[in-house]
Amino acid sequence: MAEPSTEPDLFDTIVNLCVRRGFVFRSAEIYGGFRSAYDYGPLGVLLLRNVKEQWWRSMVQMRHDVVGMDASILSPPAVWEASGHLDNFTDPMVDCRSCGTRHRSDKLEDPEACPDCGERGQLTEPRQFNLMFSTHAGPVADSAAQVYLRPETAQGMFINFANVLRASRKRPPFGIAQIGKSFRNEITPGNFVFRTREFEQMEMEYFVPPDTADEWYEHWCQARHQWYLDLGINPESVRLQAHGADELSHYSSATSDVEFLFPWGWDELEGIANRGDYDLRCHAEHSGERLEYFDPATGEHYVPHVIEPAAGATRAAMAFLMSAYDTEVVNDAERVVLRLDRRLAPYQVAVLPLSRKDVLVPVAQRVFDLLKGRWSCDYDETQAIGRRYRRQDEIGTPLCVTVDFDTLEDDAVTVRDRDTMAQDRVGIDRLPGYLAERLP
Ligand code: ATP
Repeated sequence: MAEPSTEPDLFDTIVNLCVRRGFVFRSAEIYGGFRSAYDYGPLGVLLLRNVKEQWWRSMVQMRHDVVGMDASILSPPAVWEASGHLDNFTDPMVDCRSCGTRHRSDKLEDPEACPDCGERGQLTEPRQFNLMFSTHAGPVADSAAQVYLRPETAQGMFINFANVLRASRKRPPFGIAQIGKSFRNEITPGNFVFRTREFEQMEMEYFVPPDTADEWYEHWCQARHQWYLDLGINPESVRLQAHGADELSHYSSATSDVEFLFPWGWDELEGIANRGDYDLRCHAEHSGERLEYFDPATGEHYVPHVIEPAAGATRAAMAFLMSAYDTEVVNDAERVVLRLDRRLAPYQVAVLPLSRKDVLVPVAQRVFDLLKGRWSCDYDETQAIGRRYRRQDEIGTPLCVTVDFDTLEDDAVTVRDRDTMAQDRVGIDRLPGYLAERLP
């Protein structure tokens, strides 16, 4: 469970930065807010897109054995009956008789005490609460029209197994990957975007011959841990933790979590599970379809086993932000700098005319036009240049390009590096090449 945090204030600092700079806003804020959902602002949407893009790149684009898909969010009860979610996708819930609040009993620090009012002995017996949201499709709101919002993207891959196999001509080992929104009626959402009722997942189902499942499970545990390290998460803040036998779900022979050291302690970013043939067998039984692979080499049909790396995009974005946050003292003043990997930074370049003078602005706009097709660029002509540098440091922009009065003479600009603050004078004609050596 949670270990003491090394930086108790980091959480508030990050939330503050996110709201102030436009990464994340409270949903429906002008109506008092909606606790279980968040809106991603101009910078948050860029960061989140970059996180998803890097996942897609490593899981789909760079592999010949994985294809993508995008399944529907709404689905009929039959899917969730077969998957077991209608019966089993529950959390144990307790009510406090004293203050009326609800809590997940398996997450209580003290099983006797209400975390809100502190009263002891006032919690009810746990009841199982199903986390799926349901609604009705079509104009008649009766039980025949009931549909569910998916609580995970995975089932879309299982129910399309035969379609993808046929259409893509892949054979095991092969994977189907998907990024998309999922919905869970969490009893206690919280810790900012860590646990929300609407969130984005990045999941891959990797179908393998049964006798290779253990090997592939190990492969994906290592590969997924490495993905976070490659994108710059501090190695002391991310670890792979195997579940004990008592923590495994009934269908899984092995599960490991990639965990991050959040300000409240170690917590899950991603789960990697060896799911055996559970999912394909359940859907085959319920649907009557054969969900198997015919191996022409042996002349046998078999049900592939599945290794599933299941990550949260929104949780990952939060971990990348927390890991990147840094402060240092420069010329007696504190500098806040988000040392985000260059592939994740919302903007890779900021173009800054030294002043708003008429002579500089057209040149700065020409520089912006020169770069915008290749990199995500910010353009900012407000405030003193020092304050604009500090803003770009705080949102993690790796390089700032400044157009000054000398530019009018030498057709060159100053490029400032976020991490070292070193400045280079670069001719505008050489600028795209110079940036290409330093940016993805
Ligand atoms: P938890 O134990 O934290 O509720 P889980 O083990 O139920 O999570 P999975 O079903 O394995 O989570 O989902 C895979 C990933 O989806 C999680 O590792 C997490 O990154 C993300 N995720 C799950 N639930 C939420 C949520 N309510 N808000 C944000 N992300 C979530």
